[in-house]
Amino acid sequence: MSTYWSPIVHSLTPYVPGEQPRMPDLVKLNTNENPYGPGPAVLAAIEAANTDDLRLYPDPTALELRRVIAAYHGVAVEEVFVGNGSDEVLAHAFCALLRHERPLAFPDISYSFYPVYCGLYGIAARPVPLAPDFSIRVDDYLDPAIGAVIFPNPNAPTGMALPLVDIARLVAARPDIPVVVDEAYVDFGAESAVGLVRSHANLLVSHTLSKGRGLAGLRVGYAIGQAPLVEALNRVKDSFNSYPLDRLALAGAAASFGDEAWFQQTRRQVMATRETLVRGLEDLGFEVLPSAANFVFARHRTADAAQLNAGLRKKGVIVRHFARPERIANFLRITVGTEGQSAALLKAMTSVFG
Ligand code: PMP
Repeated sequence: MSTYWSPIVHSLTPYVPGEQPRMPDLVKLNTNENPYGPGPAVLAAIEAANTDDLRLYPDPTALELRRVIAAYHGVAVEEVFVGNGSDEVLAHAFCALLRHERPLAFPDISYSFYPVYCGLYGIAARPVPLAPDFSIRVDDYLDPAIGAVIFPNPNAPTGMALPLVDIARLVAARPDIPVVVDEAYVDFGAESAVGLVRSHANLLVSHTLSKGRGLAGLRVGYAIGQAPLVEALNRVKDSFNSYPLDRLALAGAAASFGDEAWFQQTRRQVMATRETLVRGLEDLGFEVLPSAANFVFARHRTADAAQLNAGLRKKGVIVRHFARPERIANFLRITVGTEGQSAALLKAMTSVFG
């Protein structure tokens, strides 16, 4: 605490990211990274950008990358916003679109950055309980007292996907309020809402290159929405940082969209490994929520999650355990890694029981 702090700083409760330890042989399944990383085309593009004009500022409008993303999704370039990871895109969305008189609704069990942004921007939060089976109930968001909505699809940390028909119903039923769908994990099996943007002026969909495209270290995220929503994001962005994406990130991100084969192959491999991981966990006595993400959320029928977490760590396997809220305190969130990492996790888990 310091008397030099701006008053708001005293009240902030910052987000705590998963740890990034550097240890040889660590089986790191705690932050939902993609085990395969980017393909060679991305690395070559970054290498080329590295030797090319780093003394110059990058394009503040990221026009080339936005063109590539627009073409990929079949939208106009004015409907694409890019930022330094989707966390930054979401932060700008909170400031530019989700701050209103009436509160912002999001699931009570969801991405824990949302309440942090609410604290930073002075937004009244309205947590909406998930159903007993941990699904999102769209009807709970139709209350006229709600002034804006955000949720991840698939949800985090449950991994459960909301069907597109439900999202369509929500955005159609609440044309008066902005709805942000955070599709950070959409590449692993959920239906994207990007196709609804054309017909719904209130919908913004955010994506990241951190998960499906294996580029968490490059920090690139984007959002798709009709031009007025994107203009709001740009106004905030240009009041904050003109150059959130550096030249290396712009080049690598654009190249990623040019290598569809790598994207398809690696995301399919992650989905296939997820199925073997789920079966292995079930065989060990876990209940696993249906996952459409690159992680699974699982609780054991008898064993305590905090103890399992600690036992795995001793064996060099790190996963994520959230002590709060109470309802998920006995779950572990386990990233889907390679087949080898999954086997190592299951082996370590077996010996923790043994
Ligand atoms: N949304 C959700 C639901 C996430 O879990 C994450 C990753 N922590 C993000 C957004 C942000 O990802 P990034 O900033 O790497 O794009």
